[in-house]
Amino acid sequence: MSMINIRKKCLWCCLDSSSEVTACTANNCPLWPFRSGKYADGQKHGTRDAIGRKCMDCSSWVDSEVRDCMNTGCALWNERSVKKEKKERTPKQIEADKANGARLMAIRASKSK
Ligand code: SF4
Ligand code: SF4
Repeated sequence: MSMINIRKKCLWCCLDSSSEVTACTANNCPLWPFRSGKYADGQKHGTRDAIGRKCMDCSSWVDSEVRDCMNTGCALWNERSVKKEKKERTPKQIEADKANGARLMAIRASKSK
C-alpha cells in the first residue's frame, strides 16, 4: 500500500502527469527513489521510512505538525509517521525550519479560533 500511496502523491505533485513524475529531478525528495511506483533493482523496503521523512519535510521537521496534520486528502495521510532526521542540518537550515514550524503553528492556531 505504501508504494501505491507514494505513486499517488507523486502524481498529485506533478498535476497527474506521469511523464513529469518520471522526469522529476528533485532527488533530495524522500519519495524520489520510489516515484515510479516500483522498487529500484535489489531494493525490497524503505517506503515507510520515505513516507515518514516526506511528512517531516512537509511539516518543517516539527513532529507535532505531522501528528496533527489535517490534510486527510493527502495520499500519505493514513501512513504518516514521525521519523527522526538522519542527516545533519546546518545551523542556517535549523533556523529556517524553526521559523517555518512557528509559521505553520500560527496558521493552525488562527484557523482553530
Ligand atoms: S519525488 Fe517528490 S518532488 Fe518528485 S514528484 Fe515525487 S513528491 Fe514530487
Ligand atoms: S500526510 Fe500531511 S504531513 Fe504528510 S505529506 Fe501529506 S500533508 Fe504533509
